[in-house]
Amino acid sequence: MTEAFIHYLWQFQQFNKTLLQTTNQEPIKVLKTGILNTDAGPDFSQARLQIGEIEWAGNIEIHIKSSDWNNHNHQFDGAYNNVILHVVWHHDKPILREDGSEIPTLELRPITDGVLLNKFQTLLANKTVIPCASQFRTVSALARIATLDKVLAKRLIQKSKIVEELLGENNGDWEETTYQLLAKNFGFKINSEAFLRLAKNLPLKILQKHRDNLTQIEAILFGQSGLLEEVDEYSKKLAQEYNFFAVKFSLKAQMLNVHEWKLLRTRPANFPTIRIAQLAKLITLQKSFFSLFTQTESIEDLRRALQIQQSEYWQEHYHFDKKAERKSKGIGKDSVDNLLINTVIPLLACYSQKMDNQSYMDRAIAFLESLPPESNHIIDMWKNLGLTIKSAFDAQASIELYNNFCSQKKCLQCNIGVEILKK
Ligand code: SF4
Repeated sequence: MTEAFIHYLWQFQQFNKTLLQTTNQEPIKVLKTGILNTDAGPDFSQARLQIGEIEWAGNIEIHIKSSDWNNHNHQFDGAYNNVILHVVWHHDKPILREDGSEIPTLELRPITDGVLLNKFQTLLANKTVIPCASQFRTVSALARIATLDKVLAKRLIQKSKIVEELLGENNGDWEETTYQLLAKNFGFKINSEAFLRLAKNLPLKILQKHRDNLTQIEAILFGQSGLLEEVDEYSKKLAQEYNFFAVKFSLKAQMLNVHEWKLLRTRPANFPTIRIAQLAKLITLQKSFFSLFTQTESIEDLRRALQIQQSEYWQEHYHFDKKAERKSKGIGKDSVDNLLINTVIPLLACYSQKMDNQSYMDRAIAFLESLPPESNHIIDMWKNLGLTIKSAFDAQASIELYNNFCSQKKCLQCNIGVEILKK
């Protein structure tokens, strides 16, 4: 037995409700089950019950055994004084309040359907990576849609928290935050931490002073990244420029070490040198990333703004002094979409919450619905189970569902799991 299952039984009232009574045979009428509390304190708040002749309003606490109340030291915690019903699987001991009165207790084991319990145990005992895989095709479209909507909302909130953290570090400076977020995503996972450090150590305000000069922007970015090698005419020019700016803006103490970058097992198009050159070009083209990402209403306009070509040198090189076999075509379509999903969407979600303006969140969702799905093994698993994945919205939701629900067996918090148990 798990407390999560008892939560589920109480939340959806999945037990025999005829002659519902406390362990002291007082009749119980559930007027409101209460609101599930995922923070500290009792499990459900704002419940309303009639026990005997008296109507109560307060909290519900859930345990496997009644004695868990004392094992969890709730008898010493004032947050539990307003518990009006103790819901347990097995009643092994009367539990007393501080004033000596007994807390009314509902024991669920005798009134729970054995078939339901069996279904729950079978689902959780399943060793496949998606525990409901064998039943997934029988789940209604409504339950699938409701689940994807719910988990996507959760994912957006989580992603917007990352933006919020950066915003806090930047004392509310949206422009600097957007630049750092964008730079991080130029690392395309493998170098995202190094890119973020580069951006944090190199304020956008410094780069913006030289927006009209691509060589200077490249010099500052490459110099500060620790990747600059003086091996040819171009790199020597960059080094000369960087040395000047490093003194002027006191940059050297914050310079990255070359070992912070991952260069092995990286596709040439994803080499940090190429991505830095592309970021440099974007900085020269955009006066404000924040305005671009929050004020542009068309996804195609955003795509056009990001689909740029780096400087000529970096079209022909992947490393300093090493000519590429094939000329680089600039930021590819998939990379642009990746930047939009990981930069613009979380930024709009965070901005929407901060400004208390739903229109930005609506736009983030509309963008996700219009972008194509990415391709990875999680999405392939869902497709094999018959889940329709037509857009980035479906893809992001299905990744969230797998990572934060299925793989943690949180089936009771998932509409699909709830429907499977109800069948
Ligand atoms: S969390 Fe939901 S979708 Fe995932 S395995 Fe459990 S019931 Fe299925």
